[in-house]
Amino acid sequence: MSIERCDFREGEYIDSQYTITKRLGEGAFGLVYKVVDYAGNVYALKLLKLWEVHPEIRQQLSDRFEMEYQTGRIESPYLVHSLGHGFVKGNPYILMEFCPNGDLTKMPRNADWNTIGQQILLGLKALHQCGKVHRDLKPENVLIKQDGTAVLTDFGISGDRNKRMTERNILGKPTQIFGTYPYMPPEQVQPKRGDATVLPTTDIFSYGVMMYQLLTGYLPFGPLNDENELVLYLKNAREGNWNRNALTMSSYGLMFKKLIEGCLEPDFKHRLQSADEALQMLPPVNNLFSSIRDFVPLDPSQVRGLLLRIMQGEEYGRTYDLTQLATRSYMLTMGRQDLGTNNAIPIVENQSCYVSRKHCTLEYDDQANVWFIRDGQWDRNSTGGWKRSTNGTYVNSKEVDQNGYYLQAGDIISIGDTKLRVEAY
Ligand code: ADP
Ligand code: MG
Repeated sequence: MSIERCDFREGEYIDSQYTITKRLGEGAFGLVYKVVDYAGNVYALKLLKLWEVHPEIRQQLSDRFEMEYQTGRIESPYLVHSLGHGFVKGNPYILMEFCPNGDLTKMPRNADWNTIGQQILLGLKALHQCGKVHRDLKPENVLIKQDGTAVLTDFGISGDRNKRMTERNILGKPTQIFGTYPYMPPEQVQPKRGDATVLPTTDIFSYGVMMYQLLTGYLPFGPLNDENELVLYLKNAREGNWNRNALTMSSYGLMFKKLIEGCLEPDFKHRLQSADEALQMLPPVNNLFSSIRDFVPLDPSQVRGLLLRIMQGEEYGRTYDLTQLATRSYMLTMGRQDLGTNNAIPIVENQSCYVSRKHCTLEYDDQANVWFIRDGQWDRNSTGGWKRSTNGTYVNSKEVDQNGYYLQAGDIISIGDTKLRVEAY
């Protein structure tokens, strides 16, 4: 398919179906339009500017855009939904529900922050339950629906690490990455060995920065008007150096103070671990819904087996039935598929290399009828016999060590860029 430049103006048709009524925004790779169909339905349409990017990275960007569409299919009242997708002149587009009330930057300071804050957390919870990490949470990416509900959008880099890191070089537009720095946790700005896995705690940190900014009018770690101020800003973030008093000036500030402290913890291991933990720190609000089923069966005696489903990674959607695999062995190995490895659960990883060949082990305890996950595998050649993975095994936001962790339905296992969900059936 040939890829042509698109210069759409108001009144023109896209894909002979959608009439452009307005241009809503433009980012590094996307153009967003307000469009209307023949029946008068209004949508937002995001077009990927493939014609602008180097042919070598077109496939990669298209795959990522497809993932963005898929993420928008997650059922939650707090996520902007994708309604369709297609191509125009060889460039992919996503059709989304239109949010007429702008983004959070336009919200008045006296808004109902408890409700909005919880809606955003429920949006994050839905993403995390599906193995996604938003990774670009900021006020511009939270939109307001007709009825005032806050919804998350812009899932372009959800769970996508290595491609993100090269992004700054693709179009020579460093400002794009600059715009996300204020919200980025220290472990993402300067990853250390072993920090290759992006966890829900990334979004928890961004959430803390964003709520602080919305409630006080300032960024927590100091002014950030140009790149000269960035070094100090990031140092303050790393050291947990921010003005807590600013939160004592308003009743919402006081309501969120402990929560924001838990989010801005520099070490992700000590940070609030999940959206649920954060939600429990706010006073209850009526009429909020957590729509994703929790994968925890009501009656444990009804459970016939457990499976792992790849929620993020190159074999997205693939499942491994642990119960069936256990008929052959009670000990299942998981690791990167490679010549010379023979894992019961082989993870395909061609684009990055964060999964170890011998990454982790799943063991079935038939007495207790539970599955148990441990980082590393038995290795004859290793001193001590047990060889740990390079980048670690995580369940939800917690690192699993050699001693292991009992898996439960709904848990998300993260190894490298791959995320798997434990599901009961
Ligand atoms: P980018 O990757 O360019 O940041 P976004 O998905 O964040 O792309 O969209 C850019 C801007 O377009 C948003 O900040 C918002 O102002 C507008 N926009 C995006 N999606 C919608 C929508 N569904 N309804 C209304 N406005 C939208
Ligand atoms: Mg955006």
